[in-house]
Amino acid sequence: MHNQERFLRAMQEAGYGERVHHNAPMAEYTSFAVGGPADLLMEASTLDELVAWMTMARQAQVPAMVLGSGTNVLVSDLGIRGVVILNACRQYAISDDGLLRAESGCLFVELAREAVRRGWAGLEWAVGIPGTLGGAVVGNAGAYGGYIGDLLVRARLLGPDGSIRTVCKSELGYGYRTSMLKREPLTQPRTIVLDAELLLSRGDAALLAERARQVTDQRRAHTPSGCCAGSTFMRTDQYPAGFLIEQAGLKGYRLGGAQVSPHHANFIMNTGGATASEIAQLIALIQERVWQDFAQRLEPEVQFVGEWPARESAADTPGRKG
Ligand SMILES: Cc1cc2nc3c(=O)[nH]c(=O)nc-3n(C[C@H](O)[C@H](O)[C@H](O)COP(=O)(O)OP(=O)(O)OC[C@H]3O[C@@H](n4cnc5c(N)ncnc54)[C@H](O)[C@@H]3O)c2cc1C
Repeated sequence: MHNQERFLRAMQEAGYGERVHHNAPMAEYTSFAVGGPADLLMEASTLDELVAWMTMARQAQVPAMVLGSGTNVLVSDLGIRGVVILNACRQYAISDDGLLRAESGCLFVELAREAVRRGWAGLEWAVGIPGTLGGAVVGNAGAYGGYIGDLLVRARLLGPDGSIRTVCKSELGYGYRTSMLKREPLTQPRTIVLDAELLLSRGDAALLAERARQVTDQRRAHTPSGCCAGSTFMRTDQYPAGFLIEQAGLKGYRLGGAQVSPHHANFIMNTGGATASEIAQLIALIQERVWQDFAQRLEPEVQFVGEWPARESAADTPGRKG
């Protein structure tokens, strides 16, 4: 029997058959609003479902990945082979000593707003960051000098071998917008974040709300609105990526429906009707120009997900490490 059929049969036998969507258009699940179909897609609302489905997929040898809000990925026009599990596991609690325990599908912005509302300090910088806690833990999300890695105490992980273990922050190999989880190859079974604990501290609710309002205003002023995935590239050791792109004369540059934002050069926008291929080509063109002009390598912050033709992969572009 074909692996995918074996997985579908296991899902049916476990009573989950009706939860599976076939050929799900990923453009509907990503902030870039591009991406072809995933073979199979399900939305997990409990961690038991998430673990069970991931385990069934691995037993049937079907590739499976977890997607949060899809705000930091570029999904190929060819789509994703295998299973995509959308993470809607959203239980959380804040204890009296400020420990925020949250499932990885919680929306990061909601956790931040709730912490501020209850007078817990630490997450004010995160009030405008889209995406889930899981995506934030993987990518060491940060803004305005704050990083999730600074607050994280421990996380519970589902390993590629099916084991569940708790790790502390030092084991996650955090760096600027990266972690040992983000560095795992996308082509192999990856570690999944199930839940995480962040340590907050007591603060004055009114002052925290004021700080959150300032952050929100700053974000509104500096973030282009529209379909994008936030910052496309990480900053280099010396320069912000947007500065290099602007100096290379590419601010506002268009390639098909993809455009370097005229407001913030590190944002690539889908102006309507862009394909993933056009966005990938624009990413490659920016990398090439910045390498030629300044000998600076721009590393995408956005992750390339799905079935990519080899020549469109960011790994093949000049100036890229490795
Ligand atoms: C307008 C805009 C502004 C942004 N501003 C910021 C900002 O200020 N700072 C910042 O850091 N980022 C920013 N981002 C990027 C994005 O919001 C963050 O990277 C966010 O943490 C991604 O979360 P997500 O749930 O959308 O992840 P996704 O895009 O769904 O996934 C990203 C990667 O993480 C993996 N992943 C997701 N969940 C899990 C899990 N539970 N376990 C294991 N792997 C998982 C996915 O497989 C994928 O490889 C911005 C994005 C947008 C669109």
